[in-house]
Amino acid sequence: MLADLHLHSRVSDGTESPAELVRAVSAAGVTTFALTDHDTTDGWAEAAESARALGLRMLPGIEFSTRTRDFSVHILGYLIDPNAPVLARELEQIRESRRTRASRIVQRISQDFDLHWDDVLEHAADGATIGRPHIADALIAKGHVVDRGEAFESILHPRAGYVEPHYAPDTVDAVRIIREAGGVPVLAHPGTRGGDRIIPRTRLAQLVDAGLFGLEVDHPENRPDAKPPLRALAAEFGLVVTGSSDYHGTGKANRIAECSTAPEVVEAIIAAANGTPVIQPD
Ligand code: AMP
Ligand code: FE
Ligand code: FE
Ligand code: ZN
Repeated sequence: MLADLHLHSRVSDGTESPAELVRAVSAAGVTTFALTDHDTTDGWAEAAESARALGLRMLPGIEFSTRTRDFSVHILGYLIDPNAPVLARELEQIRESRRTRASRIVQRISQDFDLHWDDVLEHAADGATIGRPHIADALIAKGHVVDRGEAFESILHPRAGYVEPHYAPDTVDAVRIIREAGGVPVLAHPGTRGGDRIIPRTRLAQLVDAGLFGLEVDHPENRPDAKPPLRALAAEFGLVVTGSSDYHGTGKANRIAECSTAPEVVEAIIAAANGTPVIQPD
């Protein structure tokens, strides 16, 4: 079994439809995967149909946008009930706030660069969770930058003064909301800022009390020096360690299955969930 539990489609900021994504997952030799679009479950049905057709096991999931003080923190939520009222309401509110925030960002950028809201909408699928990557794609099309990476380092960097945050619930509340929806919460890419800037023990203890189940230690963007202290924290708090690619199609360098999750951890996640069933191959 090869498991990659963090993948994005065009339903958020990936570049492939859910069906195309699942074909790419299969071609990469992955046998168990999770679709984890930002703040939406709208890609599940299409991905599940492809998963069944290709004989893959799928864990329906999300990547939940949350906030701890001023920091954006992503929580992966596996096997949630998408109709759980509190969760559904929060996701709706985040998506709505992402849309109005993106249009205000574009409004500000348009005072200095040729860019319109319609250009951004052209680069987002209908109903997709809008993010800075869609603005980046419009900036690329207009010739202002060459790729998403350059956009994030220039116009879309907070320093440039155009971006603003969107609504997101507190991280502790979000962990609780995922659990109440029968899902399994895992802290996404906790080591991107390096070993001396990982989550403080006291804060992690709060997340564990709220129901946190694991840490995504193996992730292409976690810094190498962050991994040993994160593994030590996982052992201390009894958390599982996951590994995933955070693939975004052509939108990021991350390749499918460049990081993966151990079979026994996949089984532990499935055993801990009761929100929505795993999609099993026939
Ligand atoms: P937002 O959700 O609007 O705050 O934008 C953040 C998203 O942009 C994340 O989900 C990342 O997938 C993506 N992102 C962040 N930095 C980069 C980068 N350097 N290149 C491509 N995508 C990025
Ligand atoms: Fe993303
Ligand atoms: Fe993320
Ligand atoms: Zn992600």
